[in-house]
Amino acid sequence: RKLVYTYDESDPEDVKLLGGKGAGLVLMYKQGLPVPPGITITTEACKLFYSNGERLPDGLMDEVREAMRWLEERTGRKFGDPRNPLLVSVRSGAPVSMPGMMDTVLNLGLNDDTLRGLIELTGNERFAYDAYRRFLQMFGSIVLGIDKKVFDDIFEEIKRERGAKYDSELSADDLKEVVRRFKEVLGDKFPQDPWKQLELAIMAVFRSWNSPRAVFYRKANNITPDVADGTAVNIVAMVFGNMGFDSGTGVLFTRDPATGENVLYGEFLPNAQGEDVVAGIRTPKSIEELKNERPDLYKQIYDMAKKLERVKKEVQDIEFTIERGKVFLLQTRNAKMTPLARVKTVVDMYEEGLVTKEEALARVKPEHIIGLLYPRLDESYLKKHGISPIAEGLNASPGAATGRVVFDADTAVEWRNRGERVILVREETRPDDVHGFYASEGILTSRGGMTSHASVVARAIGKPAVVGVEKIKIDYDKREFRVDGITVREGDVITIDGFTGKVYLGEIPTAKAELPREFFEILRMADEVRSLGVRANADTPEDAEIARRFGAEGIGLLRTERMFRRPERLSIFQQVIMARDSEERREAMNKLVPFLRNDFLEIFRVMEGLKVTVRLFDPPLHEFLPSSDELLEKLCEARMRGDSDEVSKLESLLRRVRELREANPMMGHRGVRVGVTYPEIYEAQVRAIVEAYLQLRKEGKDLQVQIMIPQVADYREIKYVKEKAIEPVFKEYGVRMPVGTMIEVVRACITADKIAKEADFFSFGTNDLTQGVFTFSRDDVENKFMHDYLEKGILDFDVFQSLDTEGVGELMRIAVEKGRAANPNLEIGICGEHGGDPKSIEFCHRIKLDYVSASAFRVPVARLAAAHAAL
Ligand code: PEP
Ligand code: MG
Repeated sequence: RKLVYTYDESDPEDVKLLGGKGAGLVLMYKQGLPVPPGITITTEACKLFYSNGERLPDGLMDEVREAMRWLEERTGRKFGDPRNPLLVSVRSGAPVSMPGMMDTVLNLGLNDDTLRGLIELTGNERFAYDAYRRFLQMFGSIVLGIDKKVFDDIFEEIKRERGAKYDSELSADDLKEVVRRFKEVLGDKFPQDPWKQLELAIMAVFRSWNSPRAVFYRKANNITPDVADGTAVNIVAMVFGNMGFDSGTGVLFTRDPATGENVLYGEFLPNAQGEDVVAGIRTPKSIEELKNERPDLYKQIYDMAKKLERVKKEVQDIEFTIERGKVFLLQTRNAKMTPLARVKTVVDMYEEGLVTKEEALARVKPEHIIGLLYPRLDESYLKKHGISPIAEGLNASPGAATGRVVFDADTAVEWRNRGERVILVREETRPDDVHGFYASEGILTSRGGMTSHASVVARAIGKPAVVGVEKIKIDYDKREFRVDGITVREGDVITIDGFTGKVYLGEIPTAKAELPREFFEILRMADEVRSLGVRANADTPEDAEIARRFGAEGIGLLRTERMFRRPERLSIFQQVIMARDSEERREAMNKLVPFLRNDFLEIFRVMEGLKVTVRLFDPPLHEFLPSSDELLEKLCEARMRGDSDEVSKLESLLRRVRELREANPMMGHRGVRVGVTYPEIYEAQVRAIVEAYLQLRKEGKDLQVQIMIPQVADYREIKYVKEKAIEPVFKEYGVRMPVGTMIEVVRACITADKIAKEADFFSFGTNDLTQGVFTFSRDDVENKFMHDYLEKGILDFDVFQSLDTEGVGELMRIAVEKGRAANPNLEIGICGEHGGDPKSIEFCHRIKLDYVSASAFRVPVARLAAAHAAL
């Protein structure tokens, strides 16, 4: 097999064989752009090198010699010829970019003889010695493995001896001395034979593929052997940017990689060679300055850059060198950009007609959308000031936030109202803390996992959150927390980073981008492509507003629990729980109806014209009563005071709490089971829904309301509550609404055909379904063993974040098939947390769900992911 290719023989599309740099050079060559001629040793050769016990494959150097002849012809020079020497660079280049991770040797081919040729050829002794000392240093450190510092020390020593501050102040004679001392270090390990130099350099580049930093980089960036297995080696004729002030070297982006603006962006260093730019020794000039000083060169570079952009249909990151007024391009690759620049350039390129809608959409990743939605920490600030985090937990909800520490929701609201920015810090949060979420910049908890209450709510309303920071010990009484000997008091400023899970002391600046026009534009394009609907999980008017602004087509899950916990309602609902019979229960529930109706109405108004799926009561009742410990304490006090009325009230409460106690409450008396035992609760909820709906109609507005039953395991549960609690209310008011069910119990999936006969729609509750399928407690797993399972490779990902398609997904597939067969009009969606996860959305598209419902803040990501699934 052929292992070495000249540009003439190469296919620029074959990135896997030629590596990114090689393919880029070939592409530029074939486009007629000025690249120095070169040849490429393929990634296949690298693989052989390794399977060969780190020896070059047989015949490789013969192929190299053959190909070098082409190089010699193209340049009119000869490798190793003392009178007219060809010098080359030997550069690494993997199929995916691994910037700075592997090695490169420049000026190869120089020896004591060719040095003289170079002097004659250029008439520039200083330049030639400068090139030679650079080569000796690179060869010594990269190929021979001598510590680079040895060379740096010698160089600095000579600078000191000569009283030179800058390299450029050294004369030809000084550099001669540098060369002499470098050669002393290298001794006879330095081969004068250029072919030997080349062979050793090729091996060194191959070896750099497996250097510790390269291996680490691949691991960190998930670059697996199927993506890139080995580096290519590019042998390219040298061009020199350090031949005087009509020479230089630079890098540029074809558009601004930070803002996406359509202007050339980059830097240029006159009279310098490649590594000088990277080393940051001198301050480079901006490309703008070049435009003023050498408009002719600028124009050439501009035209070439734009040509490349048109061919590659991507913003390019280009290296160039100017040798005595002539421009050469040395590398081109797709630019890495900020999320803002990514979205803006993609939309611009679509509008310029450069890419199709599909191409544009494929280039925007969910991370770009997320990156635009949430503020980020200023990394350079952290680096500059050497700031490290005080603790680390789970990155539960993205974004960075700074504020004063508060330890409870009421204080959060109070401080917020006097204009403070606050971070709510709790061991864990509960539904009655939600007002504190809205008042806070971010949430920090010492317990809980990715689907804990704090995480779910924070994601839903777009607040940054870091959870499960177990090192943090909170003392609510002293109003402080401690971590590693540091005490943080209420009012102290901290910063949390929901992207990384890190917690910092003090304020770290954040960068928040305004949402640009292109953000909405790319989502509009996504809508034209996707077939999955996208709705939101929302249970407050605020959530509903966010959902609507981000383009949700309705509410796929309106949880109603919160309504019972708000201040005036809780005590009434406790009467419901305490009621002795159906009559009393109905009476107490009816007192709640006006409150509930008002809550529904507020949300319905926001969602006018769209679909809203309201889920009936789901949690176990004990959550709405005080704990028995709390009651016992109060009882004790009441007895001491001799308050006999209070005593008997507390005693009966305590009795009820004990009655409601269950070993496994989440698998206990909850959801539709409560509805079966106490249909009065569902009946009153339906009444409130219907009344709110009719009120809205009276206001001349309309929307579609659907009623959803949770925790169903058998079709007869639906039948029963429809008969007892839902249909009588419909009849009374003369309305009808679709009635459907959550599918979140394993049995419901398997008997979906029977259930579909009783239900107008299904909505997969994959939080509970995952919990049931794995028998993993969704509230505990992240803090207990999920980490272990991921680490030990038993699970590939957290199944509460991304759908387990093999297990949970298979059940969903069965349910869809059986459900649709029994009821062709069945509408099917998903409202578990997975509904906002791109990989899970892909799966939902494949099994042909009608829609996904995601936390309001995830709606943009869901719209994009649904489009990707349809591409
Ligand atoms: C679910 O179980 O997936 C669901 C959406 O319901 P909840 O999270 O309220 O239990
Ligand atoms: Mg559920």
